[in-house]
Amino acid sequence: MMQFSFFKKTWIFDLDNTLHDAGYYIYPQINRLMTAYIVKYLEIDFEMATDLRQRYWEKYGATLIGLIKNHKIDPYHFLEETHNFTLSSKHIYSVTRLRHILRKIRGSKYIYSNAPYSYIKSVLRILRLSNLFLDVFSIENTKFNPKPSLRGFHTVLGKYRLNPARCVMVEDTLKNLHTAKLMGMKTIWVSPGVGKPSWVDARISHIGNLIK
Ligand SMILES: [Mg+2]
Repeated sequence: MMQFSFFKKTWIFDLDNTLHDAGYYIYPQINRLMTAYIVKYLEIDFEMATDLRQRYWEKYGATLIGLIKNHKIDPYHFLEETHNFTLSSKHIYSVTRLRHILRKIRGSKYIYSNAPYSYIKSVLRILRLSNLFLDVFSIENTKFNPKPSLRGFHTVLGKYRLNPARCVMVEDTLKNLHTAKLMGMKTIWVSPGVGKPSWVDARISHIGNLIK
């Protein structure tokens, strides 16, 4: 991370699979509940629902947006039912000393996630990060314009009149980083493995490497 000055930057962090690993427990829970929701309210079978969920996620950035646009479902009802699972410290996996790592970074910090607000707040509380962020942007806060939509990014930057040239976006999903890049932000891709697209400014294998 030597190429970045950490001084007086604005840091915009994604949550899931950026600050913690949602793959072991949380994503399976959400996927299960989303598929069940679609089966129940769209009255289609499990395989069709699984396929639909995946397609909407790819096309719209969030399954919910496809359901709003194509099936007029109530977003608040959907978010409540699909995030209705137990969440405690034993369900959240992250690097040790995450709070310490984030506190080392100078500048203002925000969360920008496509997840619902109450879920984001729960995860931050469990990770003991609640007071490190100036604000949290959820799917509701962006008026259901999730990443990677430009409109969502404009909502986030507009609220605090953030200058994208001073912002660093830290995120695991490339298409979301791509919008950030288009807007003029610096981009850090959280991804294990090797290599990165040339337009990504830096890649770290996990959030623990942010200050290395
Ligand atoms: Mg993510």
